[in-house]
Amino acid sequence: MTDASQIAEPLDTATIHGYHAHIYYRNEAERAEAAVLRQQIKARFQVIPGRWRDQPVGPHPLPMFQMAFTPAVFITLTPWLMLNRRGLTVLVHPETGDEVSDHAVHPLWLGEVLDLNIDFLRAFAGRAGRA
Ligand code: ZN
Repeated sequence: MTDASQIAEPLDTATIHGYHAHIYYRNEAERAEAAVLRQQIKARFQVIPGRWRDQPVGPHPLPMFQMAFTPAVFITLTPWLMLNRRGLTVLVHPETGDEVSDHAVHPLWLGEVLDLNIDFLRAFAGRAGRA
């Protein structure tokens, strides 16, 4: 028996104004794979590439770069990444304005699930800076 009054309303996907794909690498070999993937994505999709982060930054436990893109691009880029991520771990998360939930509750992982530093995001919630 379920009391319907205790069930929260589903969230509206209209709150998603964009997405990030974070592409992680652990070593020089994986960085080389990531460089190929970066070029392949840029050649095929409308994305805003972020800069290389060769040291862990923010909530991210490994070196990575991000690609920012719109909901319209998500429907083609995400399945392409499923097939072509070159063995790399990819985090795809929505941007709803709630950075903590976007990373801790709503993300899509391709490959290994990494342990993000959500406390970092909690500490900076509401302040300047995007992750
Ligand atoms: Zn992000």
